[in-house]
Amino acid sequence: VKCRKCGEPAAVNMRQHRFALCGEHFLEWFIAQTERVIEKYRMFARQDRLLVAVSGGKDSLALWDVLLRLGYEVEGLYIDLGIDDEAYSKQSRKHVEQFAAAAGDAPYRVLDVKATYGKSVPELALEKRGRKVCSLCGLVKRHVMNRLAYEGEYVAVATGHNLDDEAAVLFQNTLHWQTGYLARQAPVLPSTVPRLARKVKPFFRFYERDTAAYAVLRGIDYIYEECPYSKGATTIFYKELLNQLETRSRGAKQQFYLSFLQAREEQGLFGEETQELELSECQNCGQPTTASGLCAFCRLWEDR
Ligand code: SF4
Ligand SMILES: [Zn+2]
Ligand SMILES: [Zn+2]
Repeated sequence: VKCRKCGEPAAVNMRQHRFALCGEHFLEWFIAQTERVIEKYRMFARQDRLLVAVSGGKDSLALWDVLLRLGYEVEGLYIDLGIDDEAYSKQSRKHVEQFAAAAGDAPYRVLDVKATYGKSVPELALEKRGRKVCSLCGLVKRHVMNRLAYEGEYVAVATGHNLDDEAAVLFQNTLHWQTGYLARQAPVLPSTVPRLARKVKPFFRFYERDTAAYAVLRGIDYIYEECPYSKGATTIFYKELLNQLETRSRGAKQQFYLSFLQAREEQGLFGEETQELELSECQNCGQPTTASGLCAFCRLWEDR
């Protein structure tokens, strides 16, 4: 297979797009494509200050890299969850630090959950028996991103979710016909109330293997290991299923997710679910919540 641009041997074959590119042209294409998505979906503008959530993995570091190269005013945010199985958090933090240094001291901040709130995520999970680590972790991450975005007056928080991530979540939401989730799953989540951060996913159209190819070709040293708590996660199983589908029918993953977005927009699917939820302010932290009194995050630390 040859590069569509220069005819040299291809490094990445994107079967879903029916073309292949050499390393150099792939890197170029990937950056240009990200910029197109940012503009097409009006994610943010040139002068906007952004926070990019980085985990040390390929997607988030690749996103940080691309945003820096495009010249956006972006700061990294590493949330240290205190996952000490196989020293996971320490190692992933090291990858973030190394990336920042290699990128010419790219600015970033670290929020250590245990140092800030008193307990790491696994410790919290131990205390709240019966609640899944990942659901607590998600709650903590959402809260922290929101709070720091608000306090630092960032216009948006960008995350490295790729098409495989989005398609797996869509598959899950569809299997259970969770219409509320289906109404809200999107590449851009606007800030509907003042303390709610705008969330954007500039990589949502890339296949996971392409974000991985970008990281590898760019020489980004990312953490290969997955979080130990992700073992056996249903979303991983759904990703495998969708990949089987993709092998049979090229472009199926992309078709599944992009047609969903299109159908929802053009046919108003789940329109009745999109009414704004009634949100009030948490009495403790001030973040928007559907509960009255304390938000779910603050309740975690209160009812001991
Ligand atoms: S796998 Fe679960 S515990 Fe690990 S980072 Fe993801 S959400 Fe958090
Ligand atoms: Zn080429
Ligand atoms: Zn709160």
